[in-house]
Amino acid sequence: MDFNYSPEDEAFRSEFRAWLARNLADATPMREALADEAAGDWEARIRWHRKLNEGGWMAINWPKEYGGRGATLLQNIIYHDELERAGTCAPFTGFGISLLGPTLIHWGSEEQKRRFIPKILTAEEIWCQGYSEPNSGSDLASLQTRAVEDGDYFVVNGSKIWTSAAHHADWIFLLTRTDPEAPKHKGISYLLVDMKTPGITVRPLVQMTGARGFNQVFFEDVRVPRQNLVGQQNQGWQVAITTLMFERATGHDRGIVKQIHELVDLARRVPHNGASGWDDSSVRQQIASFALEAEAIKYTGYRQLTRQLKGLPPGPESSMLKLCSTELALRIAAFAMELLGPYSQMESDAPFAVDSGKWSQRMLAARGPTIYAGTNQIQHNIIGERVLGLPKG
Ligand SMILES: Cc1cc2nc3c(=O)[nH]c(=O)nc-3n(C[C@H](O)[C@H](O)[C@H](O)COP(=O)(O)OP(=O)(O)OC[C@H]3O[C@@H](n4cnc5c(N)ncnc54)[C@H](O)[C@@H]3O)c2cc1C
Repeated sequence: MDFNYSPEDEAFRSEFRAWLARNLADATPMREALADEAAGDWEARIRWHRKLNEGGWMAINWPKEYGGRGATLLQNIIYHDELERAGTCAPFTGFGISLLGPTLIHWGSEEQKRRFIPKILTAEEIWCQGYSEPNSGSDLASLQTRAVEDGDYFVVNGSKIWTSAAHHADWIFLLTRTDPEAPKHKGISYLLVDMKTPGITVRPLVQMTGARGFNQVFFEDVRVPRQNLVGQQNQGWQVAITTLMFERATGHDRGIVKQIHELVDLARRVPHNGASGWDDSSVRQQIASFALEAEAIKYTGYRQLTRQLKGLPPGPESSMLKLCSTELALRIAAFAMELLGPYSQMESDAPFAVDSGKWSQRMLAARGPTIYAGTNQIQHNIIGERVLGLPKG
């Protein structure tokens, strides 16, 4: 593995670093994952999205002809490293940039690309992802939301759940069942639906962190023009898989090393048996073992990257990375709770909350990544069956 960057990559880094330095005043600060949105947060993210886009720094991995930079895998990594170094991130403004745009570039008709892609880039239209249903999550292809043909329209009935950002969204990309008689993967169609269409109701769901980023979305006789079908009718599963591939490629938690540094700092501050937590060798050993795991995860990531750079198909590393990094984040959060003792129970606005309650927020938020983009149990299955060759349970 070559750990050096090429001169082109270094030039890319310098260009972005210089751009960031000039425009950082508009950046949104790093926030705790799955924290509730404060007043003005969403608007600030949209402003940062637009600023990045004006500089050509929003959809960097999209091809140039669609408004991206055609950035390589390594440049993508440099991009996120530089954002992190500057204390910011690419803002979450729904799933247009990360999921729908790349899917449409692959599967959309020319008319669909012309109509939707420019407004994804400018954040004039915000997109949410209508995949999960109350009874279909890991087994996504069992979904039951129906779309029935009616002349030039599909009429949609059913409900989607855990729909992030649906309360901000102008559009939803929706998996629907168009042929209930076909085998489950063969009767699905992928539709683009205007959230203002009559018959759509969005109801907020509050997460255990207190955040209100989730929703359940109900569809009652919602009429969707046929021209909003992506790919072929009943062949939507292939389109859906493309979107899922982009979802899995969004990667594991980059913030883990930072969290370990913060844990060291916390251990130095908390009183523990008449001294500080850091004075207890078992505390230091535990934190050292987290740091070692984080290093192992980093090099596993490099191994995966090397495979990709050599054009090899994805190996088992992505399942291992997802599994190990999300479980590590959970254990770090749980250990912080132990260090804090009774103070761990204080929420952000409590007068004696340590670090404004961020550790308890992290503890609650750390569960989410073990669930989305393929639950950790599903990752165990993949590793067991495809890597270790174990029989199916
Ligand atoms: C923060 C967050 C954001 C999300 N945003 C969105 C969104 O915007 N749009 C959207 O469509 N969805 C979204 N989701 C939903 C997410 O995709 C689903 O929660 C996920 O696919 C799991 O489905 P489920 O919740 O129905 O659980 P289920 O699939 O019902 O699973 C329940 C439990 O059973 C286990 N299990 C299931 N099948 C197996 C198996 N074969 N072997 C072993 N164990 C199994 C699971 O691991 C889990 O522990 C989001 C979820 C989270 C946490």
